[in-house]
Amino acid sequence: MDLGIAGRKALVCAASKGLGKACAMSLAGEGVDVTIVARTPGPLEETAGEIRAATQAAVTTVAADITTDEGRALALEACPSPDILVNNAGGPPPGDFRDWGRDEWIAAIEANMLSAIFLIKETVDGMRDRGFGRIVNITSSAVKAPISILGLSNGARSGLTGFIAGVARENVGDNVTINNILPGAFDTDRMRANVAAVAEKKGISFDDALAQRARANPAGRFGDPAEFGLLCAFICGAQAGYISGQNLLIDGGAYPGTF
Ligand code: NAD
Repeated sequence: MDLGIAGRKALVCAASKGLGKACAMSLAGEGVDVTIVARTPGPLEETAGEIRAATQAAVTTVAADITTDEGRALALEACPSPDILVNNAGGPPPGDFRDWGRDEWIAAIEANMLSAIFLIKETVDGMRDRGFGRIVNITSSAVKAPISILGLSNGARSGLTGFIAGVARENVGDNVTINNILPGAFDTDRMRANVAAVAEKKGISFDDALAQRARANPAGRFGDPAEFGLLCAFICGAQAGYISGQNLLIDGGAYPGTF
């Protein structure tokens, strides 16, 4: 299926690894020019090389922290008028809410709520003027089914989700959609780091903890980041203009509710 977005420009945040990288790869595979952002130049350039080799697409890199005003300014300098914006940032650490003070909460809100809102603020009107825009926020299945040790994530991402529910309806009339994609357990560095912490806590090997976690999913496995990237590309496609304000869960069926 041709998604009809060849030649479009995408800004993909937090994209040197994992889900962000997979989104950039899938968009580039559709002929989209991608600007990818991550903090560390080495892995960022490596990923850019991989995407170019796999897709022949134009890939621009921005080494910046997307959770800061300066980082977002650098990203927008490199890609001033994106047609597609994929908001993403590292997730906050797990823990007990009794141990978190204002600094921890502000950091989570900056990363997983305000970064996305400020980038939308800077880009959405240009998309409306041009009559095309696709904004995808990478959130988490924890928005729908909170995980108690991820309180910072549950809280900050729910704030973003509430904001998006309102703003998405204002823009779809100009063919600008805004949706959230909610990953369940995907095989990325972040997920492996979480599994390593669980293994240590339980006193079992990393491989055993990994296998247990995979078996706990109805699909019996982790999601492949490429599966996530392909869903993202579809939501960013020309044909997806009637999908907006949605929270799309991609979790192997782990969420147990009827809706
Ligand atoms: P990952 O650690 O594999 O990759 C994160 C990427 O973001 C890396 O490229 C890193 O360099 C970049 N990054 C992190 N902080 C950044 C910042 N401040 N500025 C710019 N770049 C930054 O993580 P992932 O598994 O791909 O997760 C992506 C998001 O999805 C995270 O917010 C995570 O919490 C969330 N999530 C992941 C899963 C999962 O199973 N992998 C499940 C639910 C939610």
